[in-house]
Amino acid sequence: MTPEQVLKDNFGFKTFRSGQKEVISRVINGENVLAVMPTGGGKSLCYQIPALVKPGVTLVVSPLISLMKDQVDALRQNGIAAAAINSTIPQAEVNPILRQAYEGRIKLIYVTPERLNMEYFRYQLNFLPVDLVAIDEAHCISQWGHDFRPAYRQLKAAIDQLRSRPNILALTATATPAVQADIGEQLAIEKANFVVTSFARPNISFQVVHPTNSSRRYIREYLAKHQDEAGIIYVNTRKGVDQLTAYLLEHQLSVAAYHAGMDPASRARVQDDFQFDRVSTIVATSAFGMGIDKSNVRFVIHATSAQNIESYYQEAGRAGRDGLPSEAILIYHPNDLRQYRWFIDQSTAADDYRDLQYQKLQAVANYASTPECLQQYIVRYFGQDCPPCGHCSNCTDERTVQDITAEAKQVLKMVQELHGRFGKGVVAQALTGSQNKRMQEIGASRLASFGSLKQLSKQRAASLIDYLLATKLLETAGAQYPVIQVAQAGWAVLRGDKKVTRRQEAAPDRSHTQLEE
Ligand code: ADP
Ligand code: ZN
Repeated sequence: MTPEQVLKDNFGFKTFRSGQKEVISRVINGENVLAVMPTGGGKSLCYQIPALVKPGVTLVVSPLISLMKDQVDALRQNGIAAAAINSTIPQAEVNPILRQAYEGRIKLIYVTPERLNMEYFRYQLNFLPVDLVAIDEAHCISQWGHDFRPAYRQLKAAIDQLRSRPNILALTATATPAVQADIGEQLAIEKANFVVTSFARPNISFQVVHPTNSSRRYIREYLAKHQDEAGIIYVNTRKGVDQLTAYLLEHQLSVAAYHAGMDPASRARVQDDFQFDRVSTIVATSAFGMGIDKSNVRFVIHATSAQNIESYYQEAGRAGRDGLPSEAILIYHPNDLRQYRWFIDQSTAADDYRDLQYQKLQAVANYASTPECLQQYIVRYFGQDCPPCGHCSNCTDERTVQDITAEAKQVLKMVQELHGRFGKGVVAQALTGSQNKRMQEIGASRLASFGSLKQLSKQRAASLIDYLLATKLLETAGAQYPVIQVAQAGWAVLRGDKKVTRRQEAAPDRSHTQLEE
């Protein structure tokens, strides 16, 4: 059977999507391949089709047990014999699965990385003609990614011990060039065998919202206008999920909560209700989503910003898998980032790892403050390029452009006076002339620019700093705590060689309170 036939006969699709054909041919050719495709790009077929075309057995390494079950069920519905082996499957069922695979009656076996790392399991596998190991969520192998899992580290050594010497297909939706290189190095995949399709999701309109009153009011009004559409609202804590759900239910909106603190039965029920359109919107922590193959999600709202662009794009990308117009909305409030920063402060990770997390967080602040196309910003973050999308909240921003050079200069001067030794909070407080203890400790009142923007609220000053960071007039430097320095383009502004403009409403203060109203 050719890949095209399998695509048609087993899956009922007419044409391959971008990248699928190339990955599949290389895999069938016996090459090690890294496939980087956006969420919804169709990664599963990249190993499912070779599994059916190749004579032997394909192992699929997947980090999530729930995801495995769904995939196996979906394959069985298409008449493809597949099975899962993980900690929830009793040993008494494992042997028959392996026997069926031995007899060629099962072509795909989903396993957790932990299982493949077990010596006895590998001993059993030695009786099977395993010719491909597909590693899903391959970015988990890299410490430079956002979701490192130690069990992934040992996979290569484990695979190398398999007697049938299978080749490897690594798959991920979120890998920056550094993470791609790391995956390639660790799994011995040559760069020439990286198949990276466009990261752009043209049917999604990306939006950043700085709500004028409260986030939950914004969400309530949004839901009232999108009653009949499926959507997901991400909140960063379980308590936040419960509170927002209660609030929305009070307003007669069709929502249900989902987080890892709920019992498994309720979680499964909520997931089903969503899948079968009995409830239109799920309010959830990041625990919700992986393994949900709902193609008609029309909007994904991040109510409390995001920790990094990788997970943001992965979660936002759950909108519009069917290719129809959809929205991905990031509600941005600098306070939310402070909470994420605190998580990083508290972590016991090595300094350079923490630095990286700060940088990733800063990239979110930049995303929320950039005047450029949001889709383009994300695609560039992942090391690619694309033209402006024409329909994100920046591409459609019609507010007037104002000259803010004078204000920008005050900020740059302050940063210069502070010798680039402090973070955003201190700079904003010094600019607005705060009289707190921290200001006294550093003797801020002696600085020439102390209070030079005292007409602004602290939030407004922080937003201005974010804007200057996003437009690369300022930059952050690592070293345990992110400090702000004047970037090269910033010096040109200070010299008077460069103007700074910004789109904004005439009304100056867009302050906003958080989830509590
Ligand atoms: P990913 O794992 O990359 O997020 P999936 O493999 O889950 O994406 O595929 C997303 C959806 O697209 C699924 O519903 C799948 O059946 C569908 N799909 C995949 N490839 C094709 C194709 N060539 N033509 C039409 N639909 C496809
Ligand atoms: Zn755009």
